[in-house]
Amino acid sequence: MHDQATYDVVIAGGGPTGLVLAAELALARVDVAIVERRETQDLPGSRAGGLHARTIEVLDQRGVAERFLVRGKAMQVAAFASIPLDIADFPTRHAYGLALWQSQIEQILAEWVGELPVTMHRGREVTGFTQSDESVEVELADGRSLRAKYLVGCDGGRSVVRKTAGIDFPGWDASISFLIAEVATSEEPAWGMRRDDVGIYGIGKLDDGARARIVLREPHVVDRDEPTLADLRAALGALYGTDYGVRDPTWISRFTDATRQAAAYRDRRVLLAGDAAHVHPPYGAQGLNIGVQDAVNLGWKLAQVVRGTSPESLLDTYHAERHPIGARVIRSALAQSVLVRGDDRTEALREVMTDLLRMDEPRKRYAARISGLDVRYDLGEGHPLLGRRMPDLDVVTESGTLRVFTLLHDARPVLLDLGEPGAYDVGPWADRVRRVGARYDGAWDLPVLGRVSAPTAVLIRPDGYVAWVSEGPDHGLREALGTWFGPA
Ligand SMILES: Cc1cc2nc3c(=O)[nH]c(=O)nc-3n(C[C@H](O)[C@H](O)[C@H](O)COP(=O)(O)OP(=O)(O)OC[C@H]3O[C@@H](n4cnc5c(N)ncnc54)[C@H](O)[C@@H]3O)c2cc1C
Repeated sequence: MHDQATYDVVIAGGGPTGLVLAAELALARVDVAIVERRETQDLPGSRAGGLHARTIEVLDQRGVAERFLVRGKAMQVAAFASIPLDIADFPTRHAYGLALWQSQIEQILAEWVGELPVTMHRGREVTGFTQSDESVEVELADGRSLRAKYLVGCDGGRSVVRKTAGIDFPGWDASISFLIAEVATSEEPAWGMRRDDVGIYGIGKLDDGARARIVLREPHVVDRDEPTLADLRAALGALYGTDYGVRDPTWISRFTDATRQAAAYRDRRVLLAGDAAHVHPPYGAQGLNIGVQDAVNLGWKLAQVVRGTSPESLLDTYHAERHPIGARVIRSALAQSVLVRGDDRTEALREVMTDLLRMDEPRKRYAARISGLDVRYDLGEGHPLLGRRMPDLDVVTESGTLRVFTLLHDARPVLLDLGEPGAYDVGPWADRVRRVGARYDGAWDLPVLGRVSAPTAVLIRPDGYVAWVSEGPDHGLREALGTWFGPA
């Protein structure tokens, strides 16, 4: 137990977003605690179904992707409104997604976090906070409080942190609701997805093959929590004419297509990430994935501000970079929520979209968008790599050939000097930025864009995005180092 219950950062919520953020902060040597309402990491249901390519890449950047890959099934998972999008030809080591339930993803993340210096307050609930110029006082349901320099709300769609901060959550109310359940059945159900005028529904096999995961659209929007087995039976009867003798539920829940995004991801010492910042229906299967990437974008920035190497203004780049990504996912989910309906007019539109998405260019664009491989943060004009993900190249260094992603395992920035030996220097930033001299003679291929010209140096942020590119002289290097990693 921490002496004064004082931390650099308190994270409300230890779901996927909170766990990844805690890992990022711990790697950056920040004193971090998670407050999690659940007593254990167990989830009542399986929830999200897997990881997209960019999420696998960011886990690979930290050296933990393999832990997930061995537990899941690598396959083509990207889809737009259930129209499959193949990424097998994409220039990435992970040209696929991973089928792995959220319940397992969270277990693996929790094991990783357990190996790092992170304090876990399990079975405790954040009820509110007050913030001053110096700190945040985090109030807990048991009457106690924790103090932190920063509080991050990773506490899901109903975020207490967002509500207490008074941050608006504008968007669209639900137009449809779904029952979701994991059950045993007495009769063999009609496996597969169906759609009708109202929406999509279906029954799939769970991992053990004996139980079913059922998702049923409801005839009208229901916003009550806690559906029962009787509700499930009635909904099955209405859609399939039988309830298949469903029994022994391990999970019955309800979700809707309510779609909202926080107007601001930061209010002074309080930040939001993951579902606390954006909610949308699971079409495209992106919620967990973009939450993880919010965390990876925020972690190193918050660490630098906490340690005093960067000014607080660095935190504004978190909203500036991640809010547009959330907004884009939300637009995509809105479009998909229409396309998944099964009335004749929508079916006709789906046929058109299916044709279009089979063409190479649209397929690449949308596949890269859904899998997160096309993210470009607006870092200004310049080389196509600027603001985009650094590819995981095999580079030749003094200590042999290595993958660029291995240079990011410790979540520190890297200046990759690919030019004449000693052409680029990090100077007074040497304590913060690792300079690696290397050779790379292969092609530089980016998803969607294809071949780009070979740079002579790249400055890679801890989240794997390129902050500065050179094709010759080191113009602007000092400025980029100062912008991203603090004054010299
Ligand atoms: C049916 C369904 C299918 C989905 N499928 C996919 C998919 O295929 N792919 C995908 O990417 N996403 C999918 N999602 C979305 C995904 O589940 C979420 O986006 C993801 O869980 C968000 O993670 P998070 O950590 O931000 O929030 P959450 O997972 O909601 O975690 C929040 C955590 O905070 C804790 N908490 C909440 N309030 C407090 C408090 N006051 N104090 C302390 N702790 C608190 C909660 O116990 C929880 O552990 C799906 C969602 C649903 C419902």
